[in-house]
Amino acid sequence: MKTEYDVIVVGAGPAGSIAAKTAAEKGCSVLLIEKRQEIGVPIRCAEGTSKTELMKFIDIDPSFTCNELHKAEVHAPGSTSFSITTKMSGIDGEAGIILDRKIFDRHLANLAAAAGANVYTKTPATNLIMRDGKVEGVVLNHLGEERKTRSKIVIGADGVESKIARMAGIDTALNLKEIESGAQFLVYDETIDQTKCDIFIGNEIAPGGYIWIFPKGNHTANIGIGILGNKNNGKNAIQYLEKFIAGKFPNAQILGTAFGGVPASGGLKRMTADGLMLAGDAARQTDPITGAGIRYAMYAGKMAGRTAAEAIAAGDYSNHFLQKYQNEWDKTLGKTIRRNYKIKEAYNTWADEDMNRIAQMAAGLPLEDFELKEAIIAVLKSDKKLMWKMKSVYYDLLKAMI
Ligand SMILES: Cc1cc2nc3c(=O)[nH]c(=O)nc-3n(C[C@H](O)[C@H](O)[C@H](O)COP(=O)(O)OP(=O)(O)OC[C@H]3O[C@@H](n4cnc5c(N)ncnc54)[C@H](O)[C@@H]3O)c2cc1C
Repeated sequence: MKTEYDVIVVGAGPAGSIAAKTAAEKGCSVLLIEKRQEIGVPIRCAEGTSKTELMKFIDIDPSFTCNELHKAEVHAPGSTSFSITTKMSGIDGEAGIILDRKIFDRHLANLAAAAGANVYTKTPATNLIMRDGKVEGVVLNHLGEERKTRSKIVIGADGVESKIARMAGIDTALNLKEIESGAQFLVYDETIDQTKCDIFIGNEIAPGGYIWIFPKGNHTANIGIGILGNKNNGKNAIQYLEKFIAGKFPNAQILGTAFGGVPASGGLKRMTADGLMLAGDAARQTDPITGAGIRYAMYAGKMAGRTAAEAIAAGDYSNHFLQKYQNEWDKTLGKTIRRNYKIKEAYNTWADEDMNRIAQMAAGLPLEDFELKEAIIAVLKSDKKLMWKMKSVYYDLLKAMI
């Protein structure tokens, strides 16, 4: 390991590995450090994402693909169901891909290494090197030995529990309505339908969130739940999940467990400082409705890696320059997740009867012809009470369609 790099990336998840790969491809010297001894474990993810979106970054390899799905069904509390069509998902012919995150995350780190980044595991960043309020590197622990490694830019991609942000004085605190607590079992059960993913909504079964069944092949599935901290009715995510699995799959065998928080805040207002950018869960770049973060982390990593290379070329590592990254994010995916935060806030006010009514309306609409925005508008238009509750979302969507 050298004592100085252009860019140090903290955290080898999707955001960090793509940031490291991008900056290295553009000629920067890059150090990518991961605190765990192995990249990709423990898995804290349902591993579902979009194949089409992934293909914008990497070639799809069968080694990290567990299952490809062409249908997703949403089940409302009153047992009405409707399908999320491929047109609504914005992606023709697919409802999603289920990854093996252990192999996938390792693959992304391989790509960063192949692009020229130095990669080290079991190497946590324990502090930032700061001078006059500027970030100038990290203090890290490499196999038990403390080192100070300097850099022009640090990219904090250290996940939902990011300490890098706080070390630089950036407020990343989430209140209870801005974080989903997630619990998941890897389940073996021969009755699991391996051809589609299922989403179950309702205040009784998953307050402020949903339960998912993402089939992984070989009679297994990730079955998990996300619930909002401020709506949990005194029960934790595991209790809700165990009840659901006992009712639906009484013979299920549990092959694995995963727990973790998912930011649902719509993103940070500030994600840069002098010499520092945050990316992925560290910057709260997840979809507040679905909790999906893999593809957002990859987009953010690419934008941050590219901005880092531009800053190095310009010799300007100031917050002012690095805000190019924040501006690019805010105008693109940041806009989507802020809109989805509003939708999520409105959804949180729905009673189970509202969900049933909406599911019945959705089931009666020709949704296969609609994009997501059109589908939401069509459902809102058919229920004046609901439209009133969600008026700001309705007008935002209308504006976006003009
Ligand atoms: C239960 C659950 C289910 C989910 N399901 C899905 C899903 O189906 N689809 C989806 O798209 N998203 C899902 N997500 C969200 C998704 O997992 C994250 O959004 C995604 O992993 C974010 O990537 P990241 O690179 O920002 O962070 P991470 O993947 O969390 O990577 C951060 C890395 O930084 C490392 N690190 C932390 N601190 C340090 C340090 N000090 N020094 C060095 N390394 C450090 C960590 O060990 C970790 O490897 C789920 C999340 C949970 C909790």
